[in-house]
Amino acid sequence: MKGVAASPGIVIGQAHVLKEYPIHIDQQPIAAEQVEAELQKFEEALVKAKSQLEIIRDKAKKEMGADKAEIFGAHLMMLEDEVFLGEIREKIKSESLRAEYALTLVVAAYTEMFQNMEDEYLKERAADIQDVSDRLVKNLLNIPMQSLADLAEEVVIIARDLTPSDTAQMNKECVMAFATEMGGRTSHTAIMARSLEIPAVVGCVGLLAEVQNGDLVIVDGNKGLVFLNPDQDTLEQYRKAQEEYARYIQELKELKDLPAETNDQARRVELVANIGTPKDCAGALANGAEGIGLYRTEFLYMDRAALPGEDEQFVAYKAVAEEMKGRPVIIRTLDIGGDKKLPYLDMPEEMNPFLGWRAIRMCLDREEILRTQLRAIMRASAYGTLRIMYPMVSNADEIRKANAILAEVKADLDREGIPYDRNLQVGIMVEIPAAAVIADLLIKEVDFFSIGTNDLIQYTIAVDRMNEHISYLYEPLHPAVLRLVKNVIDASHRAGKWTGMCGEMAGDVAAAPILLGLGLDEFSMSAVSIPRVKKVIRGLTWAEAQEIAQKALAAESAEEIRRLLKTEEESLAN
Ligand code: PEP
Ligand code: MG
Repeated sequence: MKGVAASPGIVIGQAHVLKEYPIHIDQQPIAAEQVEAELQKFEEALVKAKSQLEIIRDKAKKEMGADKAEIFGAHLMMLEDEVFLGEIREKIKSESLRAEYALTLVVAAYTEMFQNMEDEYLKERAADIQDVSDRLVKNLLNIPMQSLADLAEEVVIIARDLTPSDTAQMNKECVMAFATEMGGRTSHTAIMARSLEIPAVVGCVGLLAEVQNGDLVIVDGNKGLVFLNPDQDTLEQYRKAQEEYARYIQELKELKDLPAETNDQARRVELVANIGTPKDCAGALANGAEGIGLYRTEFLYMDRAALPGEDEQFVAYKAVAEEMKGRPVIIRTLDIGGDKKLPYLDMPEEMNPFLGWRAIRMCLDREEILRTQLRAIMRASAYGTLRIMYPMVSNADEIRKANAILAEVKADLDREGIPYDRNLQVGIMVEIPAAAVIADLLIKEVDFFSIGTNDLIQYTIAVDRMNEHISYLYEPLHPAVLRLVKNVIDASHRAGKWTGMCGEMAGDVAAAPILLGLGLDEFSMSAVSIPRVKKVIRGLTWAEAQEIAQKALAAESAEEIRRLLKTEEESLAN
């Protein structure tokens, strides 16, 4: 069965199917004199849910760390949210509904709101609301909670979906892998599985109908495949694949502290991480990141009622600067708009939000937002090696305007006697084709470029990066994309400056030989990809990489490039 590869690794084991108790919710109104008792029942279920969640949160904190336990803090907050609870109580009262029915109606409205959000991450948060609601419903109906706490032997967990509470309670020694029917790459199960390093396949439609407790299953978290009661040949093949994968992982571990250089030591590059919050620094360092190539600051501005102030931002930027201990950290100024909206900013409804009032455009319009952020970054720059990067730049004038504000910020700090890094580098994201084409002009205004391929690809090929109907056109190896990438790197080198890449393409092992050969100086990616890309780079000579890049540039299509990469890979393996 095919699902989504959520967490890498290969496991062969016995299925442990999570049972689902049927839940019947009575939709008939109750008599008016019962309403008081129903409200009381709801309050009791609430108290019970809170104490259950507190226990789970404390266990999670001990076993998985404070940041992973935070999700239960969020669940507890939902149970204290007077607007949410008020809506439920109101429904019980005014419509004489049973507590569980009133709850499901209110939760359905919230869930739908989250599911309609464009942001993948926020969309998946609907699952958290559902988790809290399930807990309340079960408490209201006296249905026992299933628990993974008392597993006694090693098993593969098969479930419709795993809730945060399931994973927090589970006895991890006994869980070899997960396979679930629901979820995508950013679902809770997937995120947890990756952070616990448990192989997982999610979104495997129809799985539960096919599998029985005790069945032999293979979970291939690399390819997103699940095999039920496999035949002897498949089993043999997977036993071998499992051994090979174990060797591969061992090799990756050994690479952690080695430089990202070609095997003839003729070319060295920097492998750095993309992060969204200061907490991600730990994972970056554990995977051998030499710095942070993209700190997406939007998260500081999201999920709140007003803009974050200068001091709050300063604390976050300083934390990253200090944690990275002098390694370079590129902070991207606010990149809001497109799929990322801020409810408190009064953003216009747009026909084409990805081509609209966003990122540096919005920041130059609402100057005070940029000024506050730049001040916070400059103040934090005294505590490490920070760099500033402007997103969505399309012409030199935008850089000059942003830099003029930066100059004013520095002058203010000087006047106030506040220290900052006077050598701080300033760069831009090259993610609009126009910027890539005039890279020779833009490099005069900055110290470095970082190529944002996620957007550069969508604009170059005119293919919406969120639209699954045309995702087949979204091709990082399109010759147009490669030519733009080459143009950007060459322009920076001619000016004695450097170019990095922080779009997903930088972490793609297939693209790595080409990017290396084109002369990319810095590769920024999710932390777990760092060892994988490092292995590719250390497996090539500088001449080999350059030759691959030349051949790729001469190719007529992405398919031809992919064929070429396959042949190269095979010839290098022999
Ligand atoms: C990009 O566009 O490649 C990028 C890194 O930025 P984001 O994905 O945040 O738009
Ligand atoms: Mg972008």
